[in-house]
Amino acid sequence: METKTLKRLTRLIAPYRIDDGKKFKLKHVDPGDTGGLGSEYKDEASEWLQQTIGWLAEEQEKLFAQDKWAVLLIFQAMDAAGKDSTIKHVMSGINPQGCEVTSFKVPTSNEIDHDFLWRTNRRLPERGRIGIFNRSYYEEVLVVRVHPDILVRQKLPRGLITKKIWKERYEDISAYERYLTRNGVAIRKFFLHVSQEEQRRRFLERIDDQEKNWKFSAQDVREREHWDDYMRAFEDAIRATATPHAPWFVVPADNKWFTRIVVAGAIVELMEGLGLRYPVLADEQRAELLTMRQRLVPRKRNRS
Ligand code: ATP
Ligand code: MG
Repeated sequence: METKTLKRLTRLIAPYRIDDGKKFKLKHVDPGDTGGLGSEYKDEASEWLQQTIGWLAEEQEKLFAQDKWAVLLIFQAMDAAGKDSTIKHVMSGINPQGCEVTSFKVPTSNEIDHDFLWRTNRRLPERGRIGIFNRSYYEEVLVVRVHPDILVRQKLPRGLITKKIWKERYEDISAYERYLTRNGVAIRKFFLHVSQEEQRRRFLERIDDQEKNWKFSAQDVREREHWDDYMRAFEDAIRATATPHAPWFVVPADNKWFTRIVVAGAIVELMEGLGLRYPVLADEQRAELLTMRQRLVPRKRNRS
């Protein structure tokens, strides 16, 4: 990517990148923020996004060819914040064979029978691939924290459920992410931060627009009543788990065009930082290739 474009992107996303959780407060990020770009930038942003998507596709080829790093992108948000559409847009140029999206729903009874990292661990991307988690183990300190009755149903030994359980889960998640990083899994986490008002507007649209009816869920409206508890849970989780190697991006999500550009920018920054290159062959391998080449080139017929 051109240095100028890369610099511009890096500057744009910097305010939303949380490396050090201790200093973070959710109120520092306005869901309606568009990084100082007015809506007249919408078209330019979408052009920019297209360029970025093309560049990402090339980087993914290198990631795949190099077969060393794995990339894990985690998306968390309140309902209707735009997780699905952001994933769809940002990853639209990517070769499907090098990328896998997994959505984590209410755990099944089989999943409940295991430790809470079990089900996500099985879906981690292989080296050379991009794995996208649409919801993740973070649900264990979000929805489960907001609804303690879920915790009661988790079949944990009684003595393990104490007041410290959330702190312990943050520690376990942080240790796990450090472990993954040390094994060559590059992690980025995105909280798409939508305002309660914009969520209300989007829910109403799902009711009023017939083509969007299928997206509407009464449960989502009920969940919305716990808004403040969710915001506290998000803030605490981000504060406890944002690190330089597994940063959170708290992405303003009231304007979809801006959400997409920030997410795309963060992925560009990550890939750029990995210094991906196509593998270079050793001299002997190169010599062998040339021998093979000769075999493939049709021999000239003998005229006699
Ligand atoms: P969409 O609505 O766009 O299809 P979604 O991610 O909202 O996507 P749903 O099936 O509507 O999917 O919701 C999944 C639900 O599963 C969410 O309410 C989420 O909080 C819940 N969930 C995910 N992980 C856990 C977990 N570990 N424990 C309990 N509930 C969970
Ligand atoms: Mg849903």
